[in-house]
Amino acid sequence: SRTIFSGIQPTGIPHLGNYLGALSNWVKIQNENPQDKHIFSVVGWHALTLPQNPKELGASRRDMLAVLLAIGIDPKKSIIFHQDSNAMHTELAWILSCITPTGRLRRMTSWKTRLAQSRNANSESEVDESLLNAGLLTYPVLQAADILLYQATHVPVGEDQNQHLELCRDIADSFNRTFKGRSRMFPLPTALITPSKRILSLTDPSAKMSKSAPDPSSRILLTDSAKQIAAKVRGAVTDSISTGVSYDPDERPGTSNLLAILSACFGHEDVRLFAETCRGMSHGVLKGEVAGAVEDLIAGPRAEFERLKGDVGYLDQVAREGAEAARELSARTMVQVRERIGLS
Ligand code: ATP
Repeated sequence: SRTIFSGIQPTGIPHLGNYLGALSNWVKIQNENPQDKHIFSVVGWHALTLPQNPKELGASRRDMLAVLLAIGIDPKKSIIFHQDSNAMHTELAWILSCITPTGRLRRMTSWKTRLAQSRNANSESEVDESLLNAGLLTYPVLQAADILLYQATHVPVGEDQNQHLELCRDIADSFNRTFKGRSRMFPLPTALITPSKRILSLTDPSAKMSKSAPDPSSRILLTDSAKQIAAKVRGAVTDSISTGVSYDPDERPGTSNLLAILSACFGHEDVRLFAETCRGMSHGVLKGEVAGAVEDLIAGPRAEFERLKGDVGYLDQVAREGAEAARELSARTMVQVRERIGLS
């Protein structure tokens, strides 16, 4: 049977893009494949690659667990836990980093993006990596450890994470060849690519909806009230074409983004087909529909999140039991890994 692993960083309440693009898919996979083993993690170690305020990180960590439960990750069906409560993630990451060439890590798009940003920040033509922390270079190895620790066979990821999963497969293969045993140590995990629902910023439809964009009205959070949702959607950038709405991402990115959101809220697979049914709408009517559909989508999770936030005892219990289950599985892997490398 399959073992499915995925993780999300505790860096604030997820936005609609995170939900439609990633998290809602976790719930779907969990509910549609009861025979599989499902492991979902709030990956706190990863958040440290960027500067964090320790007080806020602690709150975000608990909030993210509550969000996952609120959207339907069920501790009876899945292991749900904090990565940082299982130190074996870092133990395996260290071992794997010792068989990973640095050149491989420097070719990661995520690293190249950081390098480019450091150049802009210094407004110099030369890239200067001396100030970037080592974690930014090596976190893909930690991601590989996250997955391999549970001998996961399938990993739900967005298109943008596929390169990291390829690295994970290469590392697993490298370990299997270097440290042979009676059977191969790690399965090579397969991507479950999330049907790419890229949700764009409401205020700048040339960019994706993102939690790090400076303008809070560019994104809808899963905790936004009906009023906040309506105001943000009303303020969304569209276009000046007044003969109804149509799906045309190149010429009408803002309008198309609203159509994509509406279509996704209704669970339609084919935006273009769905958009045909909206042809007669004005921008104002479309915005009203989008605000209503988003509210219908998140009202349940939002209320459940608020309820869970008040139930600290339950959250702690889920975290504790999840950590125990995660540690039990990983300990089995680590016994074998240590034996193979000669440090048992
Ligand atoms: P950032 O500030 O880096 O943009 P983010 O929260 O917007 O952060 P990530 O933390 O990189 O995004 O992504 C978490 C998950 O949500 C990933 O699986 C990613 O593919 C998905 N995701 C993020 N933004 C979007 C979006 N706008 N549309 C669809 N999926 C998204």
